[in-house]
Amino acid sequence: MSRVKEKKQNKEDTMDKIVSLCKRRGFVFPSSDIYGGINSCWDYGPLGIELKRNIKEYWWRSMTYDRDDVEGLDASILMHPKVWEASGHIEGFTDPLVDCKKCKQRFREDAIEGSVCPNCGGELTDARQFNLMFKTFMGPVEEDASVVFLRPETAQGIYVNFLNVVNSSRKRVPFGIAQIGKAFRNEITPGNFIFRTREFEQMEMQYFVKPGEDEEWFEKWKETRFKWYEGLGIKKEKLRFHEHAEGELAHYAKKAFDIEYEFPFGWQELEGIHNRTDFDLGRHTKFSDKKMEYFDELNKERYIPYIIETSAGCDRTLLTVLTDAYDADEVEGEERYVLRFSPKIAPYKAAIFPLTKKDGMPELAKKIEKDLRKHFKVVYDGAGSIGRRYRRQDEIGTPYCLTIDHQTLVDETVTMRDRDTLEQVRIKISDLVPEIQKHIAY
Ligand code: ATP
Repeated sequence: MSRVKEKKQNKEDTMDKIVSLCKRRGFVFPSSDIYGGINSCWDYGPLGIELKRNIKEYWWRSMTYDRDDVEGLDASILMHPKVWEASGHIEGFTDPLVDCKKCKQRFREDAIEGSVCPNCGGELTDARQFNLMFKTFMGPVEEDASVVFLRPETAQGIYVNFLNVVNSSRKRVPFGIAQIGKAFRNEITPGNFIFRTREFEQMEMQYFVKPGEDEEWFEKWKETRFKWYEGLGIKKEKLRFHEHAEGELAHYAKKAFDIEYEFPFGWQELEGIHNRTDFDLGRHTKFSDKKMEYFDELNKERYIPYIIETSAGCDRTLLTVLTDAYDADEVEGEERYVLRFSPKIAPYKAAIFPLTKKDGMPELAKKIEKDLRKHFKVVYDGAGSIGRRYRRQDEIGTPYCLTIDHQTLVDETVTMRDRDTLEQVRIKISDLVPEIQKHIAY
């Protein structure tokens, strides 16, 4: 009989519990915490940064290592202001903003129901378009000519480098360019922890195809991206597609699907997959006077490629992983909180415990820790009862706990305990690396 008893989760307090666990255990802290924090800005702590790096690595590998048709790029955040004219962001990257005349709070008109202030019931102003781009100045003179923007998406850095990548990598269409980087949006109503923030990280891939082959590639990328989330360990039943209806489509898009996840606060977008046609390269051709074309030498054809975009949020994926992995159960009559991360992305792959502080066990445990560190991130814990040490690791999602005990001194085996099944097996020290590697391989 299983020693694990499932417990029902209350959706409302799940988010509160996750936010509190994140701070307590070092995943995510409020930014500038000692000054009371700053609205919607968050810092990733020791465990959060490991989790985030693992997510990014998994994405990067799936895009640029596992396939031979996608190359990487890292473009700068500050770009020529003309980029944002060409992209349509200066003119159209806006949300409708309304102010409450009484309490002065501001809202996105399309995010509130009814015609009065949701905070105090006061009268609202007429809506005006509010541009979401952060503005700053390049150089010491604060004048119109020196205005630059913090990029609101990483995609434009890819488009403007299209010719550079084609010429330097000799890639042939169809091919893609992948990039991970920060983006900034002065959101009117950020919130839900790291779900919507003003500074965030995107993982974007732009795939260049021959016009006419776009629909086929759109379908392929839709499926590939959905499977990626499953590979990350996300529960399939919590994921779904949402197709953008006619009125919902962005100005550049011929077709768009979102991948959504069911968060405790409802179904929300995780990633957008867009058929952007030749809009972007066409606009950059017009604004830069450089022909953003592709010449197909085999067929002697020249054309502006269509673009299929897959645009994911890294922080949102991290929140998804946390929410999906968070669980509570009962082990031997005791409540246990556990993060059931896929071992692939868990911050620590294993924890090493000496059973007692005697007989050379701590020294041997330290030696094993040092050896394992060469291969993956592990942690040593010698304090408290073994039960308490298990709970501490369960709560941060460490998939394996290794205990060095009396038998280890005799036969060079340790106990390996599985976070999810609670099964304990004896394993030779020399087999630890291949055994753990088997579970964390991408
Ligand atoms: P939304 O409708 O939620 O504002 P969007 O449709 O404008 O999002 P895109 O421009 O398609 O989003 O951005 C691609 C991805 O970047 C989103 O799916 C999301 O994961 C992430 N993202 C966008 N805005 C934010 C934000 N303010 N905070 C965190 N992640 C974001």
